[in-house]
Amino acid sequence: MFECKNVTMKYKVRGTTVDALDGVDLKINQGEKISVIGPSGSGKSTLLLILGGMLSPTVGEIYFEEENLYKYKPDSRARIRGSNMGFVFQTFNLVPYLSAIENVMLPLHLNGLDKTLHKDKAADVLKRVELAHRMEHKPNELSIGQQQRVALARMMVTDPRIILADEPTGSLDPETGHHILNFLDELNDEGKTVIMVTHDPAAADRAQRKLRIVDGKIVPDAS
Ligand code: ADP
Ligand code: MG
Repeated sequence: MFECKNVTMKYKVRGTTVDALDGVDLKINQGEKISVIGPSGSGKSTLLLILGGMLSPTVGEIYFEEENLYKYKPDSRARIRGSNMGFVFQTFNLVPYLSAIENVMLPLHLNGLDKTLHKDKAADVLKRVELAHRMEHKPNELSIGQQQRVALARMMVTDPRIILADEPTGSLDPETGHHILNFLDELNDEGKTVIMVTHDPAAADRAQRKLRIVDGKIVPDAS
């Protein structure tokens, strides 16, 4: 499903260059659950953004379903992303002035589904994450764990085949974090590919494969 060939990312910042990824070769199959681990600043988030079609690498290619992802223009990539991939972040990126259900409906506006169905679909996923009673609440009227469940629902509403999660439990207490990890396992059991960056060794151990990144390179996992 994904193949990275010699993926290298150098950020240019005010005249200096930051090496974030250095010659990454990687294959990921449909249905896999992968954890991405490694020190802070090692390139984990950069890899996720590149896989998601959101950041063009300086060197190298990413094939998604045998197609070179970055031969497409950003709007085509956004369409490929919208119909295949879902994202969860450590900071939930909810829109503060929209209610929970309006936040969850947002991705549906982008993929052209019949508008009358948006609300029903959003309500269904909010029920699945046990937030049926909080649909009209704004993010700041929800607990941190509930906010992350809204973000999870927003990710699930388009029924993505691939889930890219960047430290999804990083801001959560252990119990709420557990809840989120269980959801990701459930989605993986349904056949979805899950790629999750995490600092939590126990969370990382729940994956079938661990990718350790150090200084922008994939290294053998010693643990
Ligand atoms: P990780 O997620 O493993 O902590 P990142 O992929 O976020 O690491 O970052 C890898 C390196 O690239 C770090 O040194 C970071 O400072 C740098 N970096 C990340 N994003 C940017 C950016 N937008 N501009 C410049 N440098 C960046
Ligand atoms: Mg990161």
